[in-house]
Amino acid sequence: MSKLWWMKKWNNKICGITHARLRPGTDNSGISYATTLPCGHGFYTKPLLQWVHSCHKNLRQATCPTCRSIIKYF
Ligand SMILES: [Zn+2]
Repeated sequence: MSKLWWMKKWNNKICGITHARLRPGTDNSGISYATTLPCGHGFYTKPLLQWVHSCHKNLRQATCPTCRSIIKYF
């Protein structure tokens, strides 16, 4: 994996929830800061999990906050 590829992957991704620029790496518990969904949209992992959790709490299927495609693997 070249560094250039890595930069390209993360450089222009903005979190669809917090609108902050995404970055690679993991937090203290080993959870990666950012997650990319199969639809290609990227999010910070924590707000995304909160979003998925609130969907489930309201008995809704979790969907991508940006394009509303269904998130199957949560
Ligand atoms: Zn999406």
